Amino acid sequence: MEREYGLKDSIKLASNENPLGPSPKAVVAAKRALKHAHFYPEGSGFYLCQALSKHFKVPYESIILGNGSVELIEIAAKSLIEKGLNIVMNENSFSLYKIATLAMGGTVKEVKMTEDRCHDLKAMMKAVDENTRMIVVNNPDNPTGTYRPFSEIEALLKEVPESVLVIIDEAYKEYVRKKDYKSAQCLLEKHSNLLVLGTFSKAYGLAGLRVGYGFSHPEIISMLHKVRSPFNTNLVAQEACICALADEEFVKKVVDLNETEMAFIEKELKKLGLKFTPSVGNFILVDIPIKAGEFFEKLLREGVIVRPMGGFPYSVRVTLGTRRQNIKFLKATKKVLNL
Ligand SMILES: *Cc1c(COP(=O)(O)O)cnc(C)c1O
Repeated sequence: MEREYGLKDSIKLASNENPLGPSPKAVVAAKRALKHAHFYPEGSGFYLCQALSKHFKVPYESIILGNGSVELIEIAAKSLIEKGLNIVMNENSFSLYKIATLAMGGTVKEVKMTEDRCHDLKAMMKAVDENTRMIVVNNPDNPTGTYRPFSEIEALLKEVPESVLVIIDEAYKEYVRKKDYKSAQCLLEKHSNLLVLGTFSKAYGLAGLRVGYGFSHPEIISMLHKVRSPFNTNLVAQEACICALADEEFVKKVVDLNETEMAFIEKELKKLGLKFTPSVGNFILVDIPIKAGEFFEKLLREGVIVRPMGGFPYSVRVTLGTRRQNIKFLKATKKVLNL
């Protein structure tokens, strides 16, 4: 892109990556692990699963690793979906669920979000029919950054029939500092049809190493194990993630920065007269007065990459960066919109 547009120092705020990079402890571990790269990795990621079990207090038998949590989404679809079956999800949410379902010949029932761009859980429950095998809640949601309180997730699980796998995708859980929010993992004991997803790609800053994890009932976990490929997470990534998990100081620094920068961006967007959806993630969906594609192109010429999203013709998703990056985004926005 820099070559094509003749730019230098462009910034990418398009994929919700971590502006502070990876945890330094994870980098040390990854380098150390490279010396053993001639060995195949531990097939099921035993030591990383053990570390996750300890960290999150989830039984070892209830944990599975994926090559990114998107692989677990694909594995779940491969295990459960075929022609004639469907999944229920929020409209315009993270597209991988749709792609994985369509690839298996299934269909997707997309439920309209509420006016304030939240999952409409009641409407989603109503959309469940006898052919539904999965219902997906991104909590927090991507790309809106909205969330549903724990009480509503609890109510959803009480309501949904056991034949439907409830996937709660918590890729951004570390960033949320709301009293009424908590991970759905504490519902695992009560509900055997729950799959909670997490990832090392966001707050841990390890998107390039591709590790996600799922928590579920041991029977669901063994069903998923049958479908995954034997060495789906690699040796370097497993070692790095064990150390990343232990580096709580780093995650705190990441989340603190995100909180400060979210407040800054919100304040500055208000000054510019731009509306946005209040977000609890590491990104923000900003409404603009011109077509998203056009705004994206114009910002590109200023060296700022943001993400236009399907279903939101007049909004772009902007990943929060460092203060310097966020100022660059705001300045470029002001310029291209003549504000
Ligand atoms: C970023 C993201 C993920 C993480 O994907 P990985 O494959 O773990 O990198 C999962 N779900 C949602 C909703 C996301 O935004």
